[in-house]
Amino acid sequence: MDKFLSQKHCDRCGASLAKGRIMSMLNIACICMDCKKKERLDPLYEEAVKAELEEVKKGNYNYKGLKK
Ligand SMILES: [Zn+2]
Repeated sequence: MDKFLSQKHCDRCGASLAKGRIMSMLNIACICMDCKKKERLDPLYEEAVKAELEEVKKGNYNYKGLKK
């Protein structure tokens, strides 16, 4: 999680994270808000959200996402 807070650029597009950062739902990438918007349109997004919820219910808080 330290890297998540300290890194300066989006793992996906390389843009600055100065305007905000968020953890990807599809994997453990730290991405910018633009990429997050695009990610929501990914056909796997809904599935990824459900899968993450299921993992959390099972007590797995370190779920790595559907995509690698
Ligand atoms: Zn980005």
